[in-house]
Amino acid sequence: MREVQNKHIVVVGAARSGLAVASLLKRKGARVFVTDNSAIANPVKTTLQDLGIPFEENGHTEKARGAYFVALSPGVPTEAPLVQEYLEANKEVFSEIEIASWFNKSPIVAVTGSNGKTTVTSWLDHTWSKASRDHVTGGNIGHAFSDQVEQTGKNKEAILEVSSFHLDHIDTFHPHISLLLNVTPDHLDRYQNDFDKYAASKFRITENQTSNDWFIYNYDDPKTAEHVASLKKKADAPKLLAFSNQRELNEVDGAFVRNENIILKFNREEEVLMPISEVNISGKHNLNNGLATALAARASEIKSDVIRESLRTFEGVEHRLEQVREVDGVKYVNDSKATNINAVWYALDSFDVPLTLILGGRDKGNDYSELAELIRKKVHTIIAIGEAKPLIEEQLKSVVPHLETAKTMNDAVRQAKEGAKRGEAVLLSPACSSFDMYENYEHRGNEFKKAVNRL
Ligand code: ADP
Repeated sequence: MREVQNKHIVVVGAARSGLAVASLLKRKGARVFVTDNSAIANPVKTTLQDLGIPFEENGHTEKARGAYFVALSPGVPTEAPLVQEYLEANKEVFSEIEIASWFNKSPIVAVTGSNGKTTVTSWLDHTWSKASRDHVTGGNIGHAFSDQVEQTGKNKEAILEVSSFHLDHIDTFHPHISLLLNVTPDHLDRYQNDFDKYAASKFRITENQTSNDWFIYNYDDPKTAEHVASLKKKADAPKLLAFSNQRELNEVDGAFVRNENIILKFNREEEVLMPISEVNISGKHNLNNGLATALAARASEIKSDVIRESLRTFEGVEHRLEQVREVDGVKYVNDSKATNINAVWYALDSFDVPLTLILGGRDKGNDYSELAELIRKKVHTIIAIGEAKPLIEEQLKSVVPHLETAKTMNDAVRQAKEGAKRGEAVLLSPACSSFDMYENYEHRGNEFKKAVNRL
């Protein structure tokens, strides 16, 4: 923790988290200045003015220099020239969640991973509510931690979704329970296209944990296995809990599946929790998410019957394999949040009916051929949208009986309806970001839902 009172602190990036940390630092008596290299949204400007926090937009002037330390919004890359200037001058740069954690009084449950963070964070929130356990939930989801940290307390957990961009700039951030769901390629543009660098950033979630803490990880993730091997060599490593939907756990406690039942293993003792068929949301990935949730709950001493109830009743999160509507016997499913190949892979894997797949948007350097095998098995029509159309055509044309393109979401949905038969499903799972056609993935998902509701 650094002293902030009366210190000149520069916040770089004025979106949601930047505003939240600026406001927290101001409440703690710092002399805060906010700087952004592009335009700041009007409502943010109004709030900054109301709070009496000076700011600048569309570039950095001298006022953005000479700070005691920098508070970095997760949307701003470490490579940004201003951030580099500070780092080269040996000045400290901290992420929003790091700074917020200096004022935290709660045990932290922190969720990270390439996919599933929001689902698991929401599932934990649901479980904690079912257990009537006092908690705050936030971070990358809902409210920034800076907005909530003053409500924390000893008898109340803080459940946080944490991205690698936050973890890049931690120092003392210390979860009591950390969850690393998986590590697969994403955001490599911010890690010099180096998967190891991206993975290393995720692994920092355990950096300050000790033997009083827990680390919950995916037993089947090869990249995580490397990290676990090195953790095991550490004297004061956190207690390990693994989860797997593929194989039984040998040397480690955790959660796995045997004979279609979820088994929890603690202190080497096994307990049959429930049949996997009773988990309310479908897909192997959601089984993994449920196992991870159950382990975090158990490590927090939440009882099995509450965990069971939570797994039976959690309804998932909007825009993640969300069932929209059935029209003429065809199910329409919105998975707009699937912005990388791995998420689409799990989406396809979770269906056992023939599919029409709406794919595309702004490409992130995807290798669509990684989906070829599943597409051959499950998809009869691909409708490509957005900037990625030519790439998708090039890489997948030979893999699927029909490949069409569409200009708008409305056209894509109408074209999908023409080819889909009773008993089938139409899935929007784009593998791309949405920024070529939409403000964000929520906007894209909502447009899909509107189009479906017009059918
Ligand atoms: P994040 O917050 O990490 O982006 P979300 O819960 O929002 O994760 O899910 C993002 C996408 O990944 C959705 O399409 C969802 O269906 C898929 N997904 C969710 N959990 C997993 C998982 N454990 N493994 C792979 N994909 C997942």
